[in-house]
Amino acid sequence: MNYRNLSINELHELLVKKEVTPLELAKEAIRLAKEDKNNAFEYIMEKEALEIASKLTVPEANNPLWGIPFVIKDNFSTKDVPTTASSNILSGYVPLYDATVMTKLLEAHAVPIGKTTLDELAMGGTGTTGHLGTTFNPHDKSHTRYVGGSSCGSAAATAAGIVPFALGSDTGDSTRKPASFAGLVGFKPTWSRISRFGLFPFTPSLDTVGIFSRNVKDSAYVLNVLAGRDEKDSTSSTKPVEDYTSLVGKSIKGLRIGVVKEILDTLKDKNAIDAFNKSLEGFKEKGAIVNYVHIPTEILSSLLPTYFVLSCAEATSNNACLDGIKYGPYYDGKTYEEVMMNARTKGFSELIKRRFVFGSYALMSENKNELFIRAQKNRRRIVEAVNKAFEECDVIYTPAAPSVAPKFTDSSDRLSDEYLIADNHLVLGNFAGLPSITVPIALINELPYGANLMTKAFEEKELFMFASVLEDISGLKNLVAKEDK
Ligand code: GLN
Repeated sequence: MNYRNLSINELHELLVKKEVTPLELAKEAIRLAKEDKNNAFEYIMEKEALEIASKLTVPEANNPLWGIPFVIKDNFSTKDVPTTASSNILSGYVPLYDATVMTKLLEAHAVPIGKTTLDELAMGGTGTTGHLGTTFNPHDKSHTRYVGGSSCGSAAATAAGIVPFALGSDTGDSTRKPASFAGLVGFKPTWSRISRFGLFPFTPSLDTVGIFSRNVKDSAYVLNVLAGRDEKDSTSSTKPVEDYTSLVGKSIKGLRIGVVKEILDTLKDKNAIDAFNKSLEGFKEKGAIVNYVHIPTEILSSLLPTYFVLSCAEATSNNACLDGIKYGPYYDGKTYEEVMMNARTKGFSELIKRRFVFGSYALMSENKNELFIRAQKNRRRIVEAVNKAFEECDVIYTPAAPSVAPKFTDSSDRLSDEYLIADNHLVLGNFAGLPSITVPIALINELPYGANLMTKAFEEKELFMFASVLEDISGLKNLVAKEDK
């Protein structure tokens, strides 16, 4: 039997009826992972997966994740399993402990199949900068299009039907943007809702764990397992965990959908505009009220520069431990500085070095006020603008990207509103720490295209409710790429 297009729920039913065993599912996922042509894997956990799956013999009818295979981005610490963050600086690194999300999934008896590729250290949005090279979009067999990043391998493995769900991370949009390009549901929770213990920090004031799945309810099932306070992560919330599936499929009649006019206006692609407007009609048919809300263009144009200053500054500080002594391969040198310089020169790509140079520059005492502090103040203005928009609506609804997955040869004008706003506005959810989800809304020339929903802090249940209605409207549930020949 082919399991590639089955959801967590469908697999769960088969497992409970003993029509398939966790071991059979794990073997099949490993076979597909080995045949993967999209460069989705850093490491296939064959030995570990078979050992874990073979012990799962008594089905747990009330545990939807029992025996379900998954993959995890290679910037999560995994005990005794090589973890590189797709960077040469961590080649050969084998962590001594599991990230809390990994521990929780293992305790739920889900079965890890492998570690997935990313843009080096999760910095990037293309899926082309990891040390193993480009990760491809499974929906484009000619290998000419981006799958997006930084969680490229997790997106590719889920879209290719190797696993029904995957973990990524999201600092600016790294789960939600690739989800749009790969026809997936891509979710980030409220900042602090899921423990980040064992997730390599990039920009801790923005970072969250991300979830990829092929339908909305599956994402809620995974959040049910991952959410909650963790004593190992002092930034994790003590707010009680809810059943995040409880509103899936419920009516949104009378609720207000807020479309940010200034974001929609930057969209140029006619097919994308049509797809988005069609989904708005769908929301109205479901009884929702569509309101246009406003975030000033001046604020939206400042998102990317603000993100760049804050993320590079935090990243510089967080990655100082990758010095060839505490972490990373040791290269000889006469002084600490020389050892560190040798390791970092060989260990990081140009792109990472550029970000570190910029981050250090923004933090230098003579520049700090003009760059770092100013960016922090602007972040506050951004968050206030988002809060103001929420006075007029219950959920903010926007296109997730300017178009379907672009080609590697496409270029964009980096100073245009289409790039600055349409391509980068998802970071609003990180600045404000809000839950946000991308859902496929159309196939445009057979390529998926997604839109994004965002609710107020800790309104994950409501977010999944809106998302499940959107999934109903588009009819694009459980999308899976055609099999590679
Ligand atoms: N594309 C963004 C960047 O380049 C976001 C990355 C992320 O969310 N990890 O940093």
